[in-house]
Amino acid sequence: MYDLIIIGSGPAGLSAAIYGIRAGLKLLVIEKDYEGTGQVALSSCVDNYLGLPGMDGYSMGEKFREHAVEFGVEFLEAEVTSIAKNSSIYEITTADGNKLETKTVLYATGATHRKLGAPGEEKYDTKGVSYCATCDGAFYRNKKTAVIGGGDTALDDALYLSGLCEKVYLIHRRDTFRAAGITVQKVKEKKNIELVLNSTVAEIIGDDKVNSIKLNNKLTGEDTILNVSGVFVAAGSVPSTAAVPADVELDPSGYIVADESGITSVPGFFVAGDVRTKALRQVITAVSDGANAVTSITHYLETL
Ligand code: NAP
Repeated sequence: MYDLIIIGSGPAGLSAAIYGIRAGLKLLVIEKDYEGTGQVALSSCVDNYLGLPGMDGYSMGEKFREHAVEFGVEFLEAEVTSIAKNSSIYEITTADGNKLETKTVLYATGATHRKLGAPGEEKYDTKGVSYCATCDGAFYRNKKTAVIGGGDTALDDALYLSGLCEKVYLIHRRDTFRAAGITVQKVKEKKNIELVLNSTVAEIIGDDKVNSIKLNNKLTGEDTILNVSGVFVAAGSVPSTAAVPADVELDPSGYIVADESGITSVPGFFVAGDVRTKALRQVITAVSDGANAVTSITHYLETL
């Protein structure tokens, strides 16, 4: 019987694991298909984490993980398929039929890439369509690419690709950006990034691989074709809540409702990181969530 099972090994889950171990909790971290520590592993440069400017997301995540391993955190690679509560004990079932018992659960599964839903997007996934510029950018050296989105990820991706590609089109459905002003400024200064605003992707076109995209200008209604070899979708994320019990309250966008305490609508079930309702989804806020949640968890365990 564990005191705490943490589901997810991104910055929120790992921070919680370190705080939990230091609090003397018997805990386990369950992670699905380990490929780096969550979404941060896909970021080319995390320039706003205190004390580590310029570090790439994958290396930062590995540092977090090494810290947890050094502190003796136990990991299990498995997919959680259900979480059931019997009196005050949680039973977690994994896809391979394993059943684990714990007094508390911390759900820290983060979020996944939002798809555009455009024709051709699925067909050309990995054949010109990518959701990770740092993973796949090198395949498009000296080629023309498009990045879709207007948030920090899209603009960071455009900057990263501008160092590899002949030309990068940044396609955004509005004419103002969500990304930080300093990043917008950097993008505007890059000679090989062209902004294509008020436009959406009507279709991703190709033969065996992508060769162009059809754009629709929302103001004029006009369609245009851009010749590109790569399309990098950076349209934000959707919360990963597949195994969340039905009685846990979600907001209308599907995020688990909780403040920074990580306390959800169900006693003993806690949340941390990008999968909860919050204003700012960053590594630093995920790490903070993990620490705060463990404080709530230790208080809860004292009441059992
Ligand atoms: P985001 O801020 O949610 O931005 C998603 C972008 O995609 C928005 O511009 C949105 O357009 C657009 N979009 C959404 N659905 C679309 C669709 N179907 N078709 C076309 N465009 C669509 O997501 P994010 O950029 O991944 O950032 C997530 C969080 O991580 C943010 O808090 C961000 O600040 C943070 N982050 C920080 C850094 C950094 O600090 N270095 C790097 C990456 C991410 P609208 O604007 O019109 O809604």
